[in-house]
Amino acid sequence: MGILERMVANDHEELVFVQDRAAGLRAIISVHSTVLGPTLGGLRMWPYASEEEAIADVLRLAEAMTYKAAASNLKLGGGKAVIIGDPRKDKTPELFRAMGRAIEKLGGRYITAEDVGTSVEDMEYIRETTQYVTGTNRAEGGSGDPSPTTAAGVQESIVACLEAVNGAPGRGDELLDGVRVAVQGVGHVGSILCRNLAAKGARLTVCDINREQAERVAKQCGAAVVAPEKIYDVEADVFAPCALGSVLNDKTIPRLKCCIVAGGANNQLADADRDGAMLESRHILYAPDYVANAGGLINIYYRDILGRPCDAEAWSPTGIYETMRTVLRTAREHKVPTYRAAQDLASARIEEARRADK
Ligand code: NAD
Repeated sequence: MGILERMVANDHEELVFVQDRAAGLRAIISVHSTVLGPTLGGLRMWPYASEEEAIADVLRLAEAMTYKAAASNLKLGGGKAVIIGDPRKDKTPELFRAMGRAIEKLGGRYITAEDVGTSVEDMEYIRETTQYVTGTNRAEGGSGDPSPTTAAGVQESIVACLEAVNGAPGRGDELLDGVRVAVQGVGHVGSILCRNLAAKGARLTVCDINREQAERVAKQCGAAVVAPEKIYDVEADVFAPCALGSVLNDKTIPRLKCCIVAGGANNQLADADRDGAMLESRHILYAPDYVANAGGLINIYYRDILGRPCDAEAWSPTGIYETMRTVLRTAREHKVPTYRAAQDLASARIEEARRADK
């Protein structure tokens, strides 16, 4: 399918290709939907094997941001940007300044933030050339690294799922004591999640393609380490994907030995319909990723867009725990997979806004 055809199929508003030869920038910005508000989503830097791979990634990630904002009831649309390059070798201040200039030209239809391969420091360079940047340095008044609030939301999602599986509504964090969690990827989000879960008595198994990082986090949390390819075979109550997307697919789902999947990674299902149904048929409760990992976005929305504080306590009552409970309850009552219940909730909010706009 051609790019425009793909955009039509997923009601994708805009795709912008950017290059700056002097700065070595090759990037793509995707504005999926502005129905609920300006689009907001992270800037990913990744050594994509091909342009095609980068296009597919940015389109999919932007669309997920639309549903993430809608499911969490934020007045934001979904967008995303990718820089094609190796974050370990290709970063320069000028690269990010050039990216900032491209974002500025969109006039606020896309607002950026950090994502895999980019950091608060990179956002500071972007801030030199555009006002449409979030997640900048806390010391300078920005919302800083979103990972702690993302990890907090994932933890709330795990608790909501444990309550559902154990038929123990309202038991909260005490259910984490002794629970076995296998965490895939212990970077920004995964490492904080591990430390917080360990503090509540969870028993952890971790993996990371960066073995040193896995060992370091394991030492801090008393966790066991397995090789990355073995994580799907670990006997656990919860599997928490906190690395990259598409890790739940027809090869991995049959191997899972858990009753809950709840993690921070974006786009965990390789094919939403096929893999969501496969999890359901294996009686594995899936916490839809964009509900579970919305904490970072909620933090940015409160702090950078609304200019209000965003302590976990402030957003909890209307936040991820309640949204996740609603999604799990709707799925149970309507006998649909959880990813479908989340999608329906988000789509209904977008449709409502579209009608109100007319
Ligand atoms: P990160 O780059 O800091 O961490 C990812 C970790 O996963 C790295 O340590 C990496 O070595 C490891 N990894 C990569 N591939 C792996 C594999 N196949 N097996 C095991 N480990 C692997 O990124 P992050 O900020 O922690 O984000 C993790 C995921 O959460 C991403 O999918 C991101 O899009 C999503 N997410 C992050 C935030 C946030 O606030 N940072 C918010 C929402 C969603």
